[in-house]
Amino acid sequence: MNNTQIKIPMLDLKLEYDYMKGEIDSAIQKCLAHQRWVLGPEVGELEEKIADYLGAKHCMGVSSGTDALLLSLRALAIKTKGKEFFDKSDEIITTPFTFNATAGAILLAGATPVFVDIDAESYNISIAEIKRYLETGGLNVVGIMPVHIYGQACDMDEITRIAEERELFVVEDTAQAFGGKWKEQKLGTIGTAGCFSFFPSKNLGGFGDGGMVSTNDDEVASNVRMLLQHGGKSKHEINHIGYNARLDTFQAALLLVKLKYIDRFNEKRRAIAEMYSEGFKDVGSVITPTAVPEAFHVYHQYTVKIKNRDAANEYLNKNNVSNMVYYSLPLYRMKVFSDNCKIFGNNGLLENVEGACSSVLSLPMEPLQNEETTKTIIETLKRFVG
Ligand SMILES: *Cc1c(COP(=O)(O)O)cnc(C)c1O
Repeated sequence: MNNTQIKIPMLDLKLEYDYMKGEIDSAIQKCLAHQRWVLGPEVGELEEKIADYLGAKHCMGVSSGTDALLLSLRALAIKTKGKEFFDKSDEIITTPFTFNATAGAILLAGATPVFVDIDAESYNISIAEIKRYLETGGLNVVGIMPVHIYGQACDMDEITRIAEERELFVVEDTAQAFGGKWKEQKLGTIGTAGCFSFFPSKNLGGFGDGGMVSTNDDEVASNVRMLLQHGGKSKHEINHIGYNARLDTFQAALLLVKLKYIDRFNEKRRAIAEMYSEGFKDVGSVITPTAVPEAFHVYHQYTVKIKNRDAANEYLNKNNVSNMVYYSLPLYRMKVFSDNCKIFGNNGLLENVEGACSSVLSLPMEPLQNEETTKTIIETLKRFVG
């Protein structure tokens, strides 16, 4: 082991900045010249470009992925209930194997998250478990919130079918899957609303917080548009309990540059993932991600399942390979959720969620990472498993 060696990062944002430095710098200069910091021209331009890219009727820039989720849900409460917030008795089915903001947004919107188990291979919400919950009654369910975890699509055919049958809304948490697809459709455009995050580490990351809501529903769009600027169409006409949740001009300007590279970068992620999977092909104790054939996976994370995960994590760190555990704790074990959620499982246990939490490990996934680096990572993990 060589301690002077530089640790391979999960992501190298400095490298990405250098790669497009000229364009980034001139986008900043343009903002400095016009000084229109709040809802400047770049915000509308980004909304149009992303709507176009996704094939969505409307896109609204917001201040974070969390706000994208919250505002979508609030917009749906206003639309479907004629009320500002959901009631605690209103249930939204989601996964506990995600970042906390997914279910946090449900609580903020007034509803109750119902956590169901995930699929053991894709780590996405289990369609069978959604159905099983609805079959037990599930009369209070108002919507489903699938998360396209690690950049891979949930089965949107099944989710759409279930939702239509029960007249439920679907809010897609697309925070990890910008550019991902289910069959030919871009994620975030299949459900009632799609929610994106531009947090710097996301596959379309900005230079601070930011987010976007996409929808084909005119009323949801106009509600989100109001909610993000204090709840009204103008300063003197406030209809709803709103927020200051606008996307910054600066972020929009920088994201307009990064958007040009998103397809190229997603392809690079896919190539790195392929190299990893090839490298671990004959290593029985490293279970590589399952590629669902209908899903165009954008590998926000490349995540393996491995025995002795915590030891693997330590070994990689000691050998200068960054790695992360997403997620070590199911949301229902966090106090805010355990106090306010419903868990639907066998004897209260979500077996696949527990299994994933104790064995997943995400490896470095930097689109500009070279083959040499990917090889080093593969070899290091192979040395660990022996
Ligand atoms: C990052 C993330 C969010 C929250 O996005 P922010 O922009 O950080 O608020 C929500 N859901 C998932 C699945 C995420 O990965």
